[in-house]
Amino acid sequence: MRTSNLKNVGGHATYKDRCVLNKIELRKKEGCVRMLTTKPRGTNDLLPQELEKWHYVENIMREVATLYGYQEIRTPIFEHTELFQRGVGETTDIVEKEMYTFLDRGKRSLTLRPEATASTVRAFLENKLYADPLPVKLYYLGPMFRYDRPQAGRYRQFHQFGVEVFGSQSPSLDAEVIAMAMDIYERLGLHDLVVELNSVGCPQCRRAHKKVLQDYLQAKLADLCPTCQGRFEKNPLRILDCKNGRCQNLVAEAPKLEQMLCEECRRHFQLVQDYLQELQVPYTLNSCLVRGLDYYTKTAFEIVAQGIGAQSSIGGGGRYDRLIEECGGPSLPGIGYAMGIERILLTLEEQGIEFPLQTKGQIFIATLGEKAQKKGAKLAQELRKAGLMVERDYLERSLKAQLKAANRLQVSITVILGEEELAQGEAVVRDMQAGGQKEIPLQELVSYLVKKFRGGKQDE
Ligand code: AMP
Repeated sequence: MRTSNLKNVGGHATYKDRCVLNKIELRKKEGCVRMLTTKPRGTNDLLPQELEKWHYVENIMREVATLYGYQEIRTPIFEHTELFQRGVGETTDIVEKEMYTFLDRGKRSLTLRPEATASTVRAFLENKLYADPLPVKLYYLGPMFRYDRPQAGRYRQFHQFGVEVFGSQSPSLDAEVIAMAMDIYERLGLHDLVVELNSVGCPQCRRAHKKVLQDYLQAKLADLCPTCQGRFEKNPLRILDCKNGRCQNLVAEAPKLEQMLCEECRRHFQLVQDYLQELQVPYTLNSCLVRGLDYYTKTAFEIVAQGIGAQSSIGGGGRYDRLIEECGGPSLPGIGYAMGIERILLTLEEQGIEFPLQTKGQIFIATLGEKAQKKGAKLAQELRKAGLMVERDYLERSLKAQLKAANRLQVSITVILGEEELAQGEAVVRDMQAGGQKEIPLQELVSYLVKKFRGGKQDE
């Protein structure tokens, strides 16, 4: 019952009305509690165990980026809405229906970044990085936001690693960027990936193709899905890329852009393929690959993983030779790609790829009694300063419980400091794997442990 249905609310609420009001209040409270204990739809908590895998994946990405000569850039999580409208494109799904846009307290329209290319271009221009020697090669890693329908592999907050190169139109760069993406996947151990490749030409070839495509689709317009009917006038090229089965059948025989590329775009496309062959990166041509962002010119590519369900694209990108100028900068070409970290992790899991075991801890310091606790705290600090991973007891547990905790942490060494050992100026060093233990004088303990972990062989 709604509060508006209550006749006597105000001065003379009946007992029944008061009960209903209490119920409404209770439900509101329950709703409120639920909001406090549930994350927003389409977002994920990344817990410590999961994050070990993230760090492993991110480290490989950073390492490879450095090997290929890229430097990191970090841009704001939110930007002026106009940047994405202009930079991503008014007719894209992202701008039309997926952006998290809000007014700040100063009534400015801001948007949580749905992707990072537009932001990187903005930062490149604002910071005049075009004055640096070209090409400028940047990489980024971080969260993106799209109001999409959540499902496995598709989230509202997700993470991308990506690169952008500004200032070169060499087709060899297009091939290298694709090879670099594949290098990352391969180092992670992923297999059965397909590089799908296409050229979406330049505005000149697109204009000619748009007309021919519209003529072809005119008679089929009523049979297209509502989204594609909307795309017919403004952006019919996107119809080729529709995931709806009926649309896919209708466009199977449609004139493809590939057949209408201008001389320059055709040459570029051929050279990209030649270089990919040179770099031994297998690829498949897909003349329906358009990708959802308006800014692409010439090369467009996507990397697809087999067997991870509907959300099978684990990365994609392309060339955008007009975007920098479109955003108010000099006429400079650009190319980039982005890969989804959540989808890479899903694929790793799907393909049964093991992550290298992380060291949980090297040393556990078990202490008994107040004096030993003080000594233990000091020792832990000295060992950490010497670069060793140390855990210790913070709960004043029994020795048995502390050893159990050390086992759970899978440390290799437990140092036991009891009143007795302290009195003798010694500590017990127990090898948790081999099982033996020995007494080491306290003043030699740090150098003994450092040597044990660093130098290895000094023992016995
Ligand atoms: P895009 O920026 O749309 O070209 O996407 C690049 C990559 O980001 C895709 O290949 C996916 O791996 C990933 N990605 C895009 N959208 C999502 C999403 N909503 N959830 C998770 N990953 C995504």
